Amino acid sequence: MSARLAPRTIDSEDENQLLDTLDRWLERDVRPFVKDYDHADRYPAAIVEQMKELGLFGATISPDYGGLGLPATTYAQIVMKISSVWMAITGIFNSHLMLAMAVEKFGTPAQKALWLPKFASGEVRGGLALTEPDAGTDLQGIRMTARREGDQYVINGTKTWISNGIEGSCFALLVKTDPAAEPRYKGMSLFIAPKQEGFTVGRKLEKLGYKSIDSGELVFDDYRIPADHLIGEVEGEGFFQATGGLELGRINVASRGVGVAEAALQLAVDYARVRQTFGKPIAEHQAIQLKIGEMATRARAARLLTLDAAAAYDRGQRCDMEAGMAKYFASEAALENATESLRIHGGYGYSKEYDIERLYRDAPLMCIGEGTNEMQRMIIAKQIFKKNRLS
Ligand SMILES: Cc1cc2nc3c(=O)[nH]c(=O)nc-3n(C[C@H](O)[C@H](O)[C@H](O)COP(=O)(O)OP(=O)(O)OC[C@H]3O[C@@H](n4cnc5c(N)ncnc54)[C@H](O)[C@@H]3O)c2cc1C
Repeated sequence: MSARLAPRTIDSEDENQLLDTLDRWLERDVRPFVKDYDHADRYPAAIVEQMKELGLFGATISPDYGGLGLPATTYAQIVMKISSVWMAITGIFNSHLMLAMAVEKFGTPAQKALWLPKFASGEVRGGLALTEPDAGTDLQGIRMTARREGDQYVINGTKTWISNGIEGSCFALLVKTDPAAEPRYKGMSLFIAPKQEGFTVGRKLEKLGYKSIDSGELVFDDYRIPADHLIGEVEGEGFFQATGGLELGRINVASRGVGVAEAALQLAVDYARVRQTFGKPIAEHQAIQLKIGEMATRARAARLLTLDAAAAYDRGQRCDMEAGMAKYFASEAALENATESLRIHGGYGYSKEYDIERLYRDAPLMCIGEGTNEMQRMIIAKQIFKKNRLS
């Protein structure tokens, strides 16, 4: 099964223009409103409308279906820029694009023609529904079932932690079509699941950070959908279809980490220049300079690792290890830089008036999502051992 879309490129002038437009939008329409939205944990509906106009919901969808068809390197830079202003809103289109990718890579021609134009315009938005209350890392342990009845499937079970679960209207839903199958992944299938009778939102989950984007519990109670909603119309491929976008998924989370790591550094630099102790700016104290030096190095290394993985992806190379390294390093860089920047802010870092507190709350998510960093390091190690097999 091919798990890769054709390699993509972009003219550098087009890329610059796109990134400049994004910068102007972020400064004018996003940055001034972030604190209010975040503190109220309110869905940024107006910003989502602007994201539609910018084409973000179709960023990685092929132009054949109305998307921008961007290469991973451009997509990564977009996610870095947005995350340096407000990381949470990248989740509104990133999870959605994972749903679109599953359909574009593995769907039938009819499924692509029906769904991808609606995903690309943002008319239909959603995400990826994999995690259950008792199964996250161990995805093959999910319990949700789909039973075939004539030309329909009947689905029962509960998903949790689903990004866009409340505001979104359609999800790539991972289920067991053969719960007794061994190995377990052979009994898994992936469906395109629009909201309709039998599909309800259990509750909105309250979170430490990553505010304003809704994380929901989704309940399926005798939810009936036509058999043609099974992606690729083939049972037993769901595990690979659901994880088939993981290289780009990890590049995306790494890019978020870069954005947060760089923003935390910038806030620290700005603050260190103006805050005075013992008659001089704290930027002139060596202890602060050591921190800034480490933070800047981490942020740059995170950026380079991420762009390196994205470039390999764009060349059509297998890059799961490179993407995993970027995801692991950049997410830890985000967490460490946010913590250090908060400390540089002293007591004000602990105040809700300064932006650093939001970065400090948002950063840990990147260490958990798209494969925890514990798993990430084990996966990297396995690849290293594979490459170093005794002949
Ligand atoms: C804000 C947010 C948004 C999310 N959005 C989505 C979404 O849109 N769609 C979706 O499907 N899911 C989503 N998730 C769920 C996320 O993918 C899971 O939380 C993640 O995969 C970890 O699973 P878990 O929480 O069940 O932890 P567990 O799998 O229970 O892991 C607990 C701990 O054990 C460690 N661990 C587990 N297995 C091993 C092992 N074999 N060896 C060593 N250590 C191990 C883990 O690294 C972790 O530290 C979201 C989560 C959050 C917090």
